[in-house]
Amino acid sequence: MAEKNIQTKFIFFTGGVVSSVGKGLTAASLGRLLKERGFKVGVQKLDPYLNVDPGTMSPYQHGEVFVLDDGAETDLDLGHYERFIDIHLNKDCNVTTGQVYAEVISKERQGDYLGGTIQVIPHITNEIKRRIMKVAETSRADFIMLEVGGTVGDIESQPYLEAIRQLRNEIGRDHTFHIHVTWLPYIGATNELKTKPTQHSVRELRSMGITPNMIIARADQPIDDSLCEKIALFCDVEKKAVIPMQTLNSYYEVPLVLEKYHVGEYLLEHFNRKPLKKPEWQQWNELVDAVHNPEREVNIAIVGKYVELHDAYISVREALNHAALAHKAKLHINWIHSCDLEKGNGWDELKQAAGIVVPGGFGNRGIEGKIAAARYARENKIPYLGLCLGMQMMVVEFTRFHLQNEKANSTEFDEHTPLPVIDLMPDQKNITDKGGTMRLGLYPCDLTPGSIAARAYKISQVEERHRHRYEFNNAYREVLAEKGLVFSGLSPDQRLVEIAEIKDHPFMLGTQFHPEFLSRPSRPHPLFNEFMRVALELSR
Ligand code: GLN
Repeated sequence: MAEKNIQTKFIFFTGGVVSSVGKGLTAASLGRLLKERGFKVGVQKLDPYLNVDPGTMSPYQHGEVFVLDDGAETDLDLGHYERFIDIHLNKDCNVTTGQVYAEVISKERQGDYLGGTIQVIPHITNEIKRRIMKVAETSRADFIMLEVGGTVGDIESQPYLEAIRQLRNEIGRDHTFHIHVTWLPYIGATNELKTKPTQHSVRELRSMGITPNMIIARADQPIDDSLCEKIALFCDVEKKAVIPMQTLNSYYEVPLVLEKYHVGEYLLEHFNRKPLKKPEWQQWNELVDAVHNPEREVNIAIVGKYVELHDAYISVREALNHAALAHKAKLHINWIHSCDLEKGNGWDELKQAAGIVVPGGFGNRGIEGKIAAARYARENKIPYLGLCLGMQMMVVEFTRFHLQNEKANSTEFDEHTPLPVIDLMPDQKNITDKGGTMRLGLYPCDLTPGSIAARAYKISQVEERHRHRYEFNNAYREVLAEKGLVFSGLSPDQRLVEIAEIKDHPFMLGTQFHPEFLSRPSRPHPLFNEFMRVALELSR
Protein backbone atom coordinates (compact mmCIF):
# COMPACT_ATOMS: atom_id res chain seq x y z
CA MET A 1 0.00 0.00 0.00
CA ALA A 2 2.46 2.71 1.09
CA GLU A 3 5.41 3.34 -1.21
CA LYS A 4 8.66 2.10 0.27
CA ASN A 5 10.86 4.70 -1.43
CA ILE A 6 9.00 7.68 -0.05
CA GLN A 7 11.22 10.67 0.80
CA THR A 8 8.85 12.36 3.21
CA LYS A 9 9.41 11.91 6.93
CA PHE A 10 6.44 11.78 9.27
CA ILE A 11 6.31 13.29 12.73
CA PHE A 12 3.28 11.94 14.56
CA PHE A 13 1.78 13.83 17.49
CA THR A 14 -0.45 12.12 19.99
CA GLY A 15 -1.93 13.52 23.18
CA GLY A 16 -1.94 11.98 26.61
CA VAL A 17 -3.77 12.43 29.93
CA VAL A 18 -6.11 15.28 28.88
CA SER A 19 -6.99 17.21 25.76
CA SER A 20 -6.45 20.95 25.19
CA VAL A 21 -2.83 20.94 26.36
CA GLY A 22 -1.59 22.63 23.20
CA LYS A 23 -0.68 19.64 21.05
CA GLY A 24 -1.56 21.56 17.86
CA LEU A 25 0.47 24.58 18.87
CA THR A 26 3.45 22.41 19.79
CA ALA A 27 3.27 20.61 16.45
CA ALA A 28 2.93 23.93 14.61
CA SER A 29 5.94 25.30 16.50
CA LEU A 30 8.04 22.29 15.63
CA GLY A 31 6.97 22.73 12.01
CA ARG A 32 8.36 26.25 12.22
CA LEU A 33 11.67 24.93 13.59
CA LEU A 34 12.02 22.69 10.56
CA LYS A 35 10.99 25.42 8.14
CA GLU A 36 13.63 27.65 9.70
CA ARG A 37 16.15 24.95 8.85
CA GLY A 38 15.22 25.18 5.19
CA PHE A 39 12.85 22.21 4.92
CA LYS A 40 9.46 22.03 3.24
CA VAL A 41 6.88 21.29 5.90
CA GLY A 42 3.43 19.76 5.44
CA VAL A 43 0.63 19.24 7.92
CA GLN A 44 -2.19 16.81 8.50
CA LYS A 45 -4.70 16.82 11.34
CA LEU A 46 -6.63 13.60 11.90
CA ASP A 47 -9.89 14.29 13.72
CA PRO A 48 -11.63 11.29 15.22
CA TYR A 49 -15.20 12.58 15.08
CA LEU A 50 -17.91 11.38 12.69
CA ASN A 51 -18.79 14.75 11.18
CA VAL A 52 -17.44 15.02 7.65
CA ASP A 53 -16.03 18.41 8.61
CA PRO A 54 -16.57 20.87 11.48
CA GLY A 55 -18.57 23.18 9.16
CA THR A 56 -21.88 21.95 10.53
CA MET A 57 -20.84 22.04 14.20
CA SER A 58 -21.82 24.77 16.62
CA PRO A 59 -18.92 27.05 17.58
CA TYR A 60 -19.78 26.13 21.18
CA GLN A 61 -18.88 22.52 20.38
CA HIS A 62 -15.84 23.04 18.32
CA GLY A 63 -14.67 26.65 18.36
CA GLU A 64 -14.00 28.41 15.10
CA VAL A 65 -14.25 26.77 11.69
CA PHE A 66 -11.02 27.59 9.88
CA VAL A 67 -11.49 28.05 6.13
CA LEU A 68 -8.67 27.24 3.68
CA ASP A 69 -7.89 28.66 0.22
CA ASP A 70 -9.69 25.77 -1.47
CA GLY A 71 -12.77 26.32 0.68
CA ALA A 72 -12.27 23.37 3.03
CA GLU A 73 -13.91 23.99 6.40
CA THR A 74 -11.43 22.67 8.94
CA ASP A 75 -10.36 22.38 12.55
CA LEU A 76 -9.06 25.55 14.20
CA ASP A 77 -5.67 23.90 14.73
CA LEU A 78 -5.07 24.32 11.01
CA GLY A 79 -5.09 28.03 11.74
CA HIS A 80 -2.21 27.58 14.19
CA TYR A 81 -0.32 25.61 11.58
CA GLU A 82 -0.83 28.19 8.85
CA ARG A 83 0.09 31.08 11.13
CA PHE A 84 3.10 29.51 12.84
CA ILE A 85 4.65 27.79 9.84
CA ASP A 86 3.43 30.49 7.42
CA ILE A 87 2.05 28.08 4.83
CA HIS A 88 -1.19 27.54 2.93
CA LEU A 89 -2.91 24.21 3.57
CA ASN A 90 -5.57 22.40 1.54
CA LYS A 91 -8.47 20.03 2.10
CA ASP A 92 -6.23 16.95 2.29
CA CYS A 93 -4.70 18.39 5.46
CA ASN A 94 -7.73 17.72 7.66
CA VAL A 95 -9.07 14.17 7.76
CA THR A 96 -12.09 13.20 9.85
CA THR A 97 -13.52 9.80 10.68
CA GLY A 98 -16.67 10.98 8.89
CA GLN A 99 -14.72 11.42 5.63
CA VAL A 100 -12.98 8.08 6.02
CA TYR A 101 -16.18 6.14 6.60
CA ALA A 102 -18.07 8.05 3.86
CA GLU A 103 -15.36 7.07 1.37
CA VAL A 104 -15.25 3.40 2.39
CA ILE A 105 -19.03 3.06 2.40
CA SER A 106 -19.36 4.75 -0.98
CA LYS A 107 -16.76 2.33 -2.42
CA GLU A 108 -18.65 -0.57 -0.89
CA ARG A 109 -21.86 0.61 -2.60
CA GLN A 110 -20.01 0.85 -5.91
CA GLY A 111 -18.96 -2.76 -5.50
CA ASP A 112 -15.26 -2.07 -5.07
CA TYR A 113 -14.91 -4.69 -2.36
CA LEU A 114 -17.35 -7.14 -3.94
CA GLY A 115 -17.49 -10.32 -1.94
CA GLY A 116 -15.61 -8.89 1.04
CA THR A 117 -16.71 -8.03 4.54
CA ILE A 118 -15.86 -4.41 5.29
CA GLN A 119 -14.01 -4.01 8.57
CA VAL A 120 -12.18 -1.37 10.59
CA ILE A 121 -8.98 -3.32 9.96
CA PRO A 122 -8.03 -3.33 7.11
CA HIS A 123 -10.57 -1.19 5.25
CA ILE A 124 -10.80 1.84 7.51
CA THR A 125 -7.12 1.74 8.42
CA ASN A 126 -6.18 1.41 4.73
CA GLU A 127 -8.27 4.46 3.88
CA ILE A 128 -6.54 6.40 6.68
CA LYS A 129 -3.13 5.34 5.37
CA ARG A 130 -4.13 6.28 1.83
CA ARG A 131 -5.01 9.78 3.01
CA ILE A 132 -1.78 10.13 4.94
CA MET A 133 0.27 9.09 1.91
CA LYS A 134 -1.77 11.40 -0.32
CA VAL A 135 -0.82 14.47 1.67
CA ALA A 136 2.82 13.37 1.50
CA GLU A 137 2.55 13.06 -2.27
CA THR A 138 0.68 16.27 -2.98
CA SER A 139 2.59 18.49 -0.54
CA ARG A 140 6.00 17.09 -1.59
CA ALA A 141 7.08 18.07 1.90
CA ASP A 142 10.31 16.93 3.55
CA PHE A 143 8.46 16.61 6.85
CA ILE A 144 4.79 16.18 7.65
CA MET A 145 3.50 17.18 11.07
CA LEU A 146 0.71 14.70 11.62
CA GLU A 147 -1.52 15.30 14.63
CA VAL A 148 -4.02 12.78 15.92
CA GLY A 149 -6.90 14.67 17.58
CA GLY A 150 -8.16 13.67 21.02
CA THR A 151 -6.29 11.70 23.64
CA VAL A 152 -4.71 8.24 23.55
CA GLY A 153 -7.18 5.80 25.08
CA ASP A 154 -10.22 7.31 23.31
CA ILE A 155 -12.18 4.65 21.43
CA GLU A 156 -12.48 7.01 18.45
CA SER A 157 -8.77 7.46 17.89
CA GLN A 158 -7.84 3.76 17.89
CA PRO A 159 -8.11 3.20 14.11
CA TYR A 160 -5.76 6.15 13.57
CA LEU A 161 -3.16 4.78 15.99
CA GLU A 162 -3.42 1.37 14.35
CA ALA A 163 -3.00 2.92 10.89
CA ILE A 164 0.06 4.84 12.07
CA ARG A 165 1.53 1.68 13.60
CA GLN A 166 1.10 -0.18 10.33
CA LEU A 167 2.46 2.70 8.32
CA ARG A 168 5.60 2.82 10.42
CA ASN A 169 6.37 -0.75 9.43
CA GLU A 170 5.51 -0.19 5.80
CA ILE A 171 7.57 2.93 5.20
CA GLY A 172 10.27 2.16 7.73
CA ARG A 173 10.99 3.36 11.24
CA ASP A 174 13.66 5.72 9.96
CA HIS A 175 10.87 7.65 8.26
CA THR A 176 8.76 8.20 11.36
CA PHE A 177 9.06 9.92 14.72
CA HIS A 178 6.48 9.84 17.51
CA ILE A 179 5.92 12.72 19.90
CA HIS A 180 3.57 12.28 22.82
CA VAL A 181 2.32 15.50 24.41
CA THR A 182 1.09 14.98 27.96
CA TRP A 183 -0.04 16.88 31.03
CA LEU A 184 1.48 16.75 34.52
CA PRO A 185 -1.24 17.39 37.11
CA TYR A 186 -0.35 19.57 40.09
CA ILE A 187 -1.20 18.47 43.62
CA GLY A 188 -1.57 21.57 45.78
CA ALA A 189 -1.40 19.77 49.16
CA THR A 190 2.10 18.49 48.49
CA ASN A 191 3.07 21.19 46.02
CA GLU A 192 4.23 18.78 43.35
CA LEU A 193 3.66 17.74 39.78
CA LYS A 194 2.79 14.11 39.11
CA THR A 195 4.15 11.96 36.31
CA LYS A 196 1.98 8.88 36.91
CA PRO A 197 -0.77 9.79 34.39
CA THR A 198 1.97 10.33 31.78
CA GLN A 199 3.40 6.89 32.54
CA HIS A 200 -0.04 5.33 32.15
CA SER A 201 -0.69 7.17 28.95
CA VAL A 202 2.61 6.03 27.45
CA ARG A 203 1.78 2.48 28.52
CA GLU A 204 -1.53 2.79 26.72
CA LEU A 205 0.24 4.05 23.61
CA ARG A 206 2.71 1.17 23.76
CA SER A 207 -0.13 -1.31 24.09
CA MET A 208 -1.19 -0.03 20.65
CA GLY A 209 2.26 -0.84 19.36
CA ILE A 210 3.63 2.71 19.37
CA THR A 211 6.65 3.73 21.42
CA PRO A 212 7.16 7.49 21.63
CA ASN A 213 10.53 8.90 20.60
CA MET A 214 9.91 12.10 22.51
CA ILE A 215 7.65 13.27 25.30
CA ILE A 216 6.62 16.87 25.69
CA ALA A 217 5.45 17.34 29.25
CA ARG A 218 3.10 20.25 29.81
CA ALA A 219 2.25 21.84 33.15
CA ASP A 220 1.28 25.20 34.58
CA GLN A 221 4.12 25.01 37.13
CA PRO A 222 7.89 24.81 36.58
CA ILE A 223 8.95 21.26 35.68
CA ASP A 224 12.28 20.41 37.23
CA ASP A 225 14.96 18.19 35.85
CA SER A 226 14.32 15.29 38.22
CA LEU A 227 10.78 14.98 36.87
CA CYS A 228 12.11 14.77 33.32
CA GLU A 229 14.55 12.10 34.45
CA LYS A 230 11.72 10.15 36.01
CA ILE A 231 9.61 10.39 32.87
CA ALA A 232 12.59 9.27 30.78
CA LEU A 233 13.20 6.27 33.02
CA PHE A 234 9.60 5.09 33.29
CA CYS A 235 8.60 5.83 29.74
CA ASP A 236 11.72 4.52 28.08
CA VAL A 237 12.77 7.63 26.18
CA GLU A 238 16.13 9.38 26.29
CA LYS A 239 16.39 12.09 28.93
CA LYS A 240 17.14 14.74 26.31
CA ALA A 241 13.95 13.70 24.52
CA VAL A 242 11.79 14.68 27.50
CA ILE A 243 10.93 18.32 26.90
CA PRO A 244 9.47 20.29 29.80
CA MET A 245 6.97 22.84 28.55
CA GLN A 246 5.55 25.06 31.22
CA THR A 247 2.55 27.21 30.27
CA LEU A 248 3.98 30.44 28.88
CA ASN A 249 2.86 34.06 28.93
CA SER A 250 2.45 33.97 25.21
CA TYR A 251 2.35 31.03 22.93
CA TYR A 252 4.65 32.75 20.49
CA GLU A 253 7.37 31.58 22.86
CA VAL A 254 6.73 27.89 22.19
CA PRO A 255 9.06 27.63 19.15
CA LEU A 256 11.81 29.37 21.13
CA VAL A 257 11.44 26.92 24.03
CA LEU A 258 11.64 23.96 21.63
CA GLU A 259 14.75 25.57 20.17
CA LYS A 260 16.26 25.95 23.64
CA TYR A 261 15.89 22.20 24.22
CA HIS A 262 17.46 21.40 20.81
CA VAL A 263 14.35 19.60 19.60
CA GLY A 264 15.20 20.38 15.98
CA GLU A 265 18.67 18.85 16.26
CA TYR A 266 17.36 15.77 18.03
CA LEU A 267 14.80 15.22 15.33
CA LEU A 268 17.21 15.72 12.44
CA GLU A 269 19.72 13.38 14.06
CA HIS A 270 17.03 10.71 14.25
CA PHE A 271 16.34 11.15 10.55
CA ASN A 272 20.02 11.45 9.74
CA ARG A 273 19.52 14.81 8.08
CA LYS A 274 21.54 18.02 8.27
CA PRO A 275 19.85 21.44 8.38
CA LEU A 276 19.74 23.11 4.97
CA LYS A 277 20.15 26.55 6.52
CA LYS A 278 20.66 28.28 9.83
CA PRO A 279 17.43 29.18 11.63
CA GLU A 280 16.58 32.91 11.52
CA TRP A 281 14.66 33.87 14.63
CA GLN A 282 15.10 37.63 14.53
CA GLN A 283 11.55 38.48 13.41
CA TRP A 284 10.08 35.97 15.81
CA ASN A 285 12.18 37.36 18.67
CA GLU A 286 10.95 40.84 17.85
CA LEU A 287 7.41 39.51 18.13
CA VAL A 288 8.05 38.00 21.55
CA ASP A 289 9.82 41.19 22.58
CA ALA A 290 6.77 43.22 21.56
CA VAL A 291 4.64 40.91 23.74
CA HIS A 292 6.86 41.50 26.77
CA ASN A 293 7.69 45.17 26.27
CA PRO A 294 4.63 46.93 24.88
CA GLU A 295 4.85 50.68 24.44
CA ARG A 296 1.15 51.16 25.00
CA GLU A 297 -2.13 49.35 25.47
CA VAL A 298 -5.23 49.16 23.34
CA ASN A 299 -8.79 48.00 24.09
CA ILE A 300 -10.73 46.50 21.23
CA ALA A 301 -14.32 45.31 21.62
CA ILE A 302 -15.41 42.09 19.92
CA VAL A 303 -19.20 42.05 19.73
CA GLY A 304 -20.34 38.51 19.05
CA LYS A 305 -22.69 35.88 20.29
CA TYR A 306 -20.26 33.08 21.10
CA VAL A 307 -18.05 35.28 23.28
CA GLU A 308 -18.16 32.87 26.24
CA LEU A 309 -15.93 30.60 24.19
CA HIS A 310 -13.00 32.66 22.95
CA ASP A 311 -11.91 29.83 20.66
CA ALA A 312 -14.96 30.61 18.54
CA TYR A 313 -13.16 33.77 17.37
CA ILE A 314 -9.58 32.55 17.58
CA SER A 315 -8.43 33.82 14.16
CA VAL A 316 -10.04 37.22 14.79
CA ARG A 317 -8.28 37.44 18.14
CA GLU A 318 -4.99 36.40 16.56
CA ALA A 319 -5.31 38.87 13.69
CA LEU A 320 -5.97 41.66 16.21
CA ASN A 321 -2.96 40.53 18.19
CA HIS A 322 -0.71 40.53 15.13
CA ALA A 323 -1.84 44.07 14.30
CA ALA A 324 -1.43 45.31 17.89
CA LEU A 325 2.06 43.78 18.17
CA ALA A 326 3.09 45.41 14.89
CA HIS A 327 2.28 48.73 16.58
CA LYS A 328 4.04 47.64 19.77
CA ALA A 329 0.73 47.71 21.62
CA LYS A 330 -0.63 45.24 24.13
CA LEU A 331 -4.09 44.13 23.11
CA HIS A 332 -6.98 43.87 25.56
CA ILE A 333 -10.15 42.45 24.16
CA ASN A 334 -13.46 43.53 25.65
CA TRP A 335 -15.63 40.52 24.88
CA ILE A 336 -19.15 41.78 24.53
CA HIS A 337 -22.18 39.59 24.10
CA SER A 338 -24.37 41.13 21.40
CA CYS A 339 -27.49 39.95 23.29
CA ASP A 340 -26.33 41.97 26.32
CA LEU A 341 -26.23 45.18 24.28
CA GLU A 342 -29.87 44.53 23.37
CA LYS A 343 -30.72 44.47 27.08
CA GLY A 344 -28.78 47.65 27.82
CA ASN A 345 -25.79 45.83 29.32
CA GLY A 346 -22.16 45.89 28.20
CA TRP A 347 -22.30 49.46 26.90
CA ASP A 348 -19.58 50.71 29.25
CA GLU A 349 -17.18 48.06 27.92
CA LEU A 350 -18.12 49.01 24.37
CA LYS A 351 -17.53 52.70 25.07
CA GLN A 352 -14.10 52.03 26.60
CA ALA A 353 -12.90 50.42 23.38
CA ALA A 354 -10.68 52.21 20.88
CA GLY A 355 -12.18 50.10 18.11
CA ILE A 356 -15.07 47.70 17.55
CA VAL A 357 -14.98 44.41 15.67
CA VAL A 358 -18.19 42.63 14.73
CA PRO A 359 -17.19 39.15 13.55
CA GLY A 360 -19.03 36.53 11.50
CA GLY A 361 -22.02 34.51 12.61
CA PHE A 362 -25.23 32.79 11.66
CA GLY A 363 -28.81 33.03 12.90
CA ASN A 364 -31.04 35.59 14.47
CA ARG A 365 -29.83 35.69 18.06
CA GLY A 366 -28.01 38.88 19.03
CA ILE A 367 -28.44 40.52 15.64
CA GLU A 368 -29.96 43.73 16.99
CA GLY A 369 -27.05 44.07 19.43
CA LYS A 370 -24.60 43.94 16.53
CA ILE A 371 -26.61 46.56 14.66
CA ALA A 372 -26.62 48.74 17.78
CA ALA A 373 -22.83 48.42 18.04
CA ALA A 374 -22.52 49.48 14.38
CA ARG A 375 -24.78 52.47 15.04
CA TYR A 376 -22.68 53.52 18.01
CA ALA A 377 -19.47 53.22 15.94
CA ARG A 378 -20.91 55.23 13.04
CA GLU A 379 -22.39 58.01 15.14
CA ASN A 380 -19.33 58.39 17.36
CA LYS A 381 -16.79 57.86 14.60
CA ILE A 382 -15.22 54.90 16.42
CA PRO A 383 -13.11 52.60 14.18
CA TYR A 384 -15.23 49.62 13.17
CA LEU A 385 -14.25 46.46 11.36
CA GLY A 386 -17.10 44.18 10.24
CA LEU A 387 -16.26 40.64 9.19
CA CYS A 388 -18.84 38.90 7.00
CA LEU A 389 -21.96 39.16 9.19
CA GLY A 390 -20.33 42.25 10.74
CA MET A 391 -20.24 43.84 7.27
CA GLN A 392 -23.82 42.84 6.57
CA MET A 393 -25.02 44.38 9.86
CA MET A 394 -23.05 47.57 9.17
CA VAL A 395 -24.95 47.87 5.88
CA VAL A 396 -28.30 47.14 7.56
CA GLU A 397 -27.66 49.84 10.17
CA PHE A 398 -26.60 52.34 7.51
CA THR A 399 -29.75 51.63 5.53
CA ARG A 400 -32.04 51.87 8.54
CA PHE A 401 -30.62 55.28 9.34
CA HIS A 402 -30.32 56.82 5.89
CA LEU A 403 -33.50 55.40 4.37
CA GLN A 404 -35.27 55.99 7.66
CA ASN A 405 -36.76 52.58 7.99
CA GLU A 406 -35.92 50.44 11.01
CA LYS A 407 -37.29 47.42 9.19
CA ALA A 408 -34.32 47.20 6.80
CA ASN A 409 -32.68 43.83 7.30
CA SER A 410 -30.98 40.77 5.85
CA THR A 411 -33.46 38.19 4.56
CA GLU A 412 -31.56 35.70 6.73
CA PHE A 413 -33.32 37.32 9.70
CA ASP A 414 -36.49 38.77 8.19
CA GLU A 415 -37.74 37.16 5.00
CA HIS A 416 -40.38 39.82 4.50
CA THR A 417 -38.35 42.94 5.23
CA PRO A 418 -39.41 45.87 2.99
CA LEU A 419 -35.68 46.72 2.53
CA PRO A 420 -33.77 43.46 1.96
CA VAL A 421 -30.33 45.10 1.64
CA ILE A 422 -28.67 41.75 2.34
CA ASP A 423 -30.14 38.83 0.46
CA LEU A 424 -29.46 35.18 -0.32
CA MET A 425 -26.98 34.75 -3.18
CA PRO A 426 -28.79 33.54 -6.34
CA ASP A 427 -26.70 30.35 -6.57
CA GLN A 428 -27.62 29.51 -2.96
CA LYS A 429 -31.38 29.57 -3.64
CA ASN A 430 -31.95 25.89 -4.38
CA ILE A 431 -29.47 24.49 -1.91
CA THR A 432 -30.93 22.45 0.94
CA ASP A 433 -27.89 20.50 2.22
CA LYS A 434 -26.06 22.30 4.99
CA GLY A 435 -22.57 20.74 4.80
CA GLY A 436 -19.96 22.39 2.56
CA THR A 437 -22.54 24.30 0.50
CA MET A 438 -21.78 27.92 1.32
CA ARG A 439 -19.70 30.18 -0.92
CA LEU A 440 -16.36 28.97 0.36
CA GLY A 441 -12.69 29.73 -0.11
CA LEU A 442 -10.59 32.20 -2.09
CA TYR A 443 -12.17 34.66 -4.51
CA PRO A 444 -10.58 37.73 -6.09
CA CYS A 445 -11.63 41.25 -5.18
CA ASP A 446 -10.82 44.48 -7.05
CA LEU A 447 -10.19 47.50 -4.85
CA THR A 448 -11.59 50.94 -5.59
CA PRO A 449 -8.81 53.52 -5.93
CA GLY A 450 -8.90 56.21 -3.25
CA SER A 451 -10.80 54.04 -0.75
CA ILE A 452 -9.64 53.14 2.76
CA ALA A 453 -9.40 49.52 1.59
CA ALA A 454 -7.06 50.45 -1.28
CA ARG A 455 -4.98 52.58 1.09
CA ALA A 456 -4.67 49.64 3.51
CA TYR A 457 -3.79 46.95 0.96
CA LYS A 458 -1.62 49.19 -1.27
CA ILE A 459 -2.44 46.95 -4.26
CA SER A 460 -5.36 46.87 -6.69
CA GLN A 461 -6.53 43.26 -6.48
CA VAL A 462 -6.57 40.82 -3.57
CA GLU A 463 -7.79 37.28 -2.94
CA GLU A 464 -9.55 36.49 0.29
CA ARG A 465 -11.29 33.55 1.94
CA HIS A 466 -15.08 33.38 2.16
CA ARG A 467 -17.77 31.50 4.04
CA HIS A 468 -21.26 32.86 3.52
CA ARG A 469 -24.66 32.42 1.83
CA TYR A 470 -25.91 36.01 1.85
CA GLU A 471 -24.58 39.08 0.05
CA PHE A 472 -25.19 42.76 -0.51
CA ASN A 473 -28.35 43.27 -2.62
CA ASN A 474 -27.32 45.21 -5.74
CA ALA A 475 -30.77 46.78 -6.04
CA TYR A 476 -29.63 49.15 -3.28
CA ARG A 477 -26.20 50.01 -4.61
CA GLU A 478 -27.09 53.33 -6.16
CA VAL A 479 -29.32 54.69 -3.44
CA LEU A 480 -26.88 53.79 -0.66
CA ALA A 481 -23.88 55.09 -2.62
CA GLU A 482 -25.66 58.45 -2.78
CA LYS A 483 -25.91 58.40 1.01
CA GLY A 484 -22.19 57.76 1.44
CA LEU A 485 -21.69 54.02 1.37
CA VAL A 486 -18.55 53.26 -0.63
CA PHE A 487 -18.23 49.94 -2.40
CA SER A 488 -14.49 49.70 -2.09
CA GLY A 489 -14.07 46.04 -3.03
CA LEU A 490 -15.95 44.29 -5.83
CA SER A 491 -15.66 40.93 -7.53
CA PRO A 492 -13.83 41.40 -10.89
CA ASP A 493 -17.19 41.15 -12.74
CA GLN A 494 -18.40 43.98 -10.44
CA ARG A 495 -21.41 41.89 -9.45
CA LEU A 496 -20.60 41.16 -5.86
CA VAL A 497 -19.83 43.63 -3.10
CA GLU A 498 -16.80 42.31 -1.22
CA ILE A 499 -15.95 45.42 0.83
CA ALA A 500 -18.13 48.33 1.90
CA GLU A 501 -17.01 51.38 3.83
CA ILE A 502 -18.60 54.53 5.14
CA LYS A 503 -17.57 57.95 3.84
CA ASP A 504 -16.52 60.66 6.26
CA HIS A 505 -15.69 58.19 8.97
CA PRO A 506 -12.09 57.52 10.07
CA PHE A 507 -12.47 53.75 9.56
CA MET A 508 -15.81 52.04 9.22
CA LEU A 509 -15.31 49.13 6.91
CA GLY A 510 -16.87 45.71 6.45
CA THR A 511 -15.73 42.74 4.38
CA GLN A 512 -17.91 39.97 2.98
CA PHE A 513 -14.84 37.72 3.33
CA HIS A 514 -12.81 36.73 6.38
CA PRO A 515 -9.48 38.58 6.34
CA GLU A 516 -8.61 37.09 9.74
CA PHE A 517 -7.70 33.75 8.13
CA LEU A 518 -4.77 35.23 6.21
CA SER A 519 -3.11 37.24 8.98
CA ARG A 520 0.33 36.12 10.16
CA PRO A 521 2.23 36.91 13.36
CA SER A 522 4.96 38.90 11.65
CA ARG A 523 2.74 40.01 8.75
CA PRO A 524 -0.55 41.38 10.09
CA HIS A 525 -3.42 41.49 7.64
CA PRO A 526 -3.51 44.95 5.94
CA LEU A 527 -7.12 45.66 6.99
CA PHE A 528 -6.53 44.68 10.62
CA ASN A 529 -3.31 46.66 10.54
CA GLU A 530 -4.99 49.82 9.24
CA PHE A 531 -7.93 49.39 11.63
CA MET A 532 -5.46 49.14 14.52
CA ARG A 533 -3.40 52.09 13.29
CA VAL A 534 -6.46 54.34 13.18
CA ALA A 535 -7.79 53.04 16.53
CA LEU A 536 -4.43 53.77 18.18
CA GLU A 537 -4.13 57.17 16.56
CA LEU A 538 -7.59 58.29 17.64
CA SER A 539 -7.25 56.99 21.20
CA ARG A 540 -3.96 58.71 21.88
N1 GLN B 1 -24.83 34.40 8.02
C1 GLN B 1 -24.21 35.22 7.04
C2 GLN B 1 -24.21 34.59 5.67
O1 GLN B 1 -24.37 33.41 5.54
C3 GLN B 1 -22.80 35.59 7.45
C4 GLN B 1 -21.87 34.43 7.45
C5 GLN B 1 -20.60 34.68 8.21
O2 GLN B 1 -20.50 35.63 8.97
N2 GLN B 1 -19.62 33.83 8.03
O3 GLN B 1 -24.01 35.25 4.68
